[in-house]
Amino acid sequence: MNKMITAVGLACAMLFSAGAAHADAKNPKIGFSIDDLRLERWTRDRDYFTQAAEKLGAKVYVQSADASEQRQIAQIENLISRGVDVLVIVPYNATVLNNAVREAKKAKIKVLSYDRLILNADVDAYISFDNKTVGELQAQSLVQLKPKGNYYLLGGAPTDNNAKMLREGQLKVLKPLIDKGDIKVVGQQWVKDWSPSEAMSIVENALTANGNKIDAVVASNDATAGGAIQALASQKLAGKVAVSGQDADLAAVRRVMAGTQSMTVYKPLKEIASNAARMAVQLVRNEKPAYNAKLANGFKQVDTILLKPILLNKANVDLLVKDGFYTQSQLAGK
Ligand code: BGC
Repeated sequence: MNKMITAVGLACAMLFSAGAAHADAKNPKIGFSIDDLRLERWTRDRDYFTQAAEKLGAKVYVQSADASEQRQIAQIENLISRGVDVLVIVPYNATVLNNAVREAKKAKIKVLSYDRLILNADVDAYISFDNKTVGELQAQSLVQLKPKGNYYLLGGAPTDNNAKMLREGQLKVLKPLIDKGDIKVVGQQWVKDWSPSEAMSIVENALTANGNKIDAVVASNDATAGGAIQALASQKLAGKVAVSGQDADLAAVRRVMAGTQSMTVYKPLKEIASNAARMAVQLVRNEKPAYNAKLANGFKQVDTILLKPILLNKANVDLLVKDGFYTQSQLAGK
């Protein structure tokens, strides 16, 4: 009997602490579910986000799914039962979170899709850098360096909606030149989990298949660009073949300075993180964030804030120091 009472009591206690029925608008609890904290950029997102959120009076619970969709779903369920008021999610797989989001919404928890759009789900809002523009910047830089020639399209993770938007932007620039016959796409592949080693072996194979006759690799981020450049280096082609990137990862910025990577895209992470923190708190307080776009996710038109990415090449790397993204000695490798 006693046992039963305890069990019922526990269930009740869990019920009352769960969900945002009692959303604490003054000190909201934010669950931040990140695909993969093993990657440089996401640890910076986490740190900037937590800092900004705490300044607004919120408490942040961070989880990393380490590129596992099951783990991410379990972690989101765990955050829901811990009674967070809002979930901020960087999805690993854009298409598998609709049940988790439904559970959150049932518990009156707001959901903000961070950097990557969650598809086919009732998310409240989305914030990202404009990924189509990122793709355009990548392709424009390569076209300037190699207006004609053989191009290899190295896409991002097939599970990431951004990979598709980047490709859209890239093709917007490349398509007219492909149609004209100036540019020939000699191959294309998506890179599972944005993995550098997978990118390296894809580019090794592409070089073999094309007798090393590749003029440009349209890499969609710095991690995959790094893999591509390793493959090029072993054929003594690093610096000869134009390669794009994005993120301004430290290793990539050094490659840009050394001339083995043509460009990267700088996305001031403090800007997305602090805006997202403000949005998360606003959602809990039922205030309206300063949306500037709407993006279709297969379920609805999602209220969105899109931020502006910045082209970065040898000519303007100093911006990173001016912005406090890196110190001069970090760039110099000291
Ligand atoms: C992000 C990129 C990042 C990639 C791999 C994308 O969704 O927009 O900045 O490089 O994921 O983590």
